[in-house]
Amino acid sequence: MTNYITDEIQNNAIKALGRMIAQPSYNTEAAPNAPFGTGIRLALDEVLKIADELGYQTYVDPEGYYGYAEIGEGDEIFGLICHVDVVPAGDKAAWKTNPFELTQKDGSLYGRGTQDDKGPTIATLFTIKALLDQGMTFNKKVRFIFGTDEEILWRGMAKYNEKEAGIDMGIAPDAEFPLVYAEKGLQQSYLVGPGSTELELNLVNAFNAVPGSATYNGARQSEVETALEKHGFNYQKTDAGLIIQGNSVHAMNAPEGENALLRLGIALADVFPSVAALEFIKNFGEDATGANLLGVIKDEVSGQLTFNISSLQINAKESRMQIDMRIPVQTEHDALIKLIEEKVAPFNFKYENFDYLEPLYVPKDGTLVKTLMQSYIKVTGEQMAEPGISGGATFARTMKNSVAFGAMLTTTPDFMHQANENWPVRDMRIAMEIYAEAFKNLLVD
Ligand SMILES: [Zn+2]
Repeated sequence: MTNYITDEIQNNAIKALGRMIAQPSYNTEAAPNAPFGTGIRLALDEVLKIADELGYQTYVDPEGYYGYAEIGEGDEIFGLICHVDVVPAGDKAAWKTNPFELTQKDGSLYGRGTQDDKGPTIATLFTIKALLDQGMTFNKKVRFIFGTDEEILWRGMAKYNEKEAGIDMGIAPDAEFPLVYAEKGLQQSYLVGPGSTELELNLVNAFNAVPGSATYNGARQSEVETALEKHGFNYQKTDAGLIIQGNSVHAMNAPEGENALLRLGIALADVFPSVAALEFIKNFGEDATGANLLGVIKDEVSGQLTFNISSLQINAKESRMQIDMRIPVQTEHDALIKLIEEKVAPFNFKYENFDYLEPLYVPKDGTLVKTLMQSYIKVTGEQMAEPGISGGATFARTMKNSVAFGAMLTTTPDFMHQANENWPVRDMRIAMEIYAEAFKNLLVD
């Protein structure tokens, strides 16, 4: 391992991280100049204060959508795209420590945001500073961009891109090492079609998860039961109705799950053959790549389309399904949407956009990916390490020529968005050494 980071540097970084963790920066009601709530605004101000103390030039968007901190000289900008918001603590009883107080315990740093993304943000901020303190001169300006609603709708970065200069290359330290060079396009949308007076359903789940269970408590339970038996679908008969069981996984891995909602829909289609939404689901089937509807859609870089249907609402007025698609990076977005519109039209359904994130794709054989990978291998000794692809989403996709790089090691247990989120002190140190090596290789002639 290389040796750019001393105990003192890491300890100072941990102290600063404590200041960030103390800000409960999850999305709340908007306040003046705090579009995502005062918690996030205070975290934005705090990170800029820390940067300022380290000698960075800082700027905050007066409306509170984003901020940035710069250091060094050069015509080109190397960006570090971070975020200061977190998901809420969730079930506080499940935490062993106060989620909003950094607690060092059993060799690890506990607190909401230690992994995602306050820990990596502070680690990179201090690593850049450490290299400059060691006398290095960078050939590019370094800019940390602090986004504010990464966990929700990315409006902070949209505002940044509207008002500020882009970067020439960059990383988002908000995932796992070694590196993600392709992230599928992410489209969330609705399919809206005819209502029914025969059947009322109101099954709603998160966009980004495959429904793990679905309940039918209508009048025709014995017929639905027969249909479930016929299809061989698991279910339980309870006082609350028939509960169909599936296997919930993240929507980006939808083909690996079992969608309970689709199973219920397929069984209901036998009992209510004239309901348009059920007719659609019957034809769609259980294939979460959307192939039954659209044909096979895939590319060599990022694999197959995933297509998750996570809600089904039917009433007298309309029926509505929400879908989450992870789109291969080389698929043309407009053409795909047109194809969907065409294919749902025979069922009298219409397509409605909810949210779209463009894909990320930086070729593997370019300088940025090669340099980052060589740096990673030098520090870790993992000769066989390969850059990867993801159906998930980081801020890397909001900027050109940017990839997700760290900060979790492949051996770091994943606690993002979970109770007892923590980052082992030793893993943080290794991550900082990887970043130091990478920044030296990218930024010093
Ligand atoms: Zn994150």
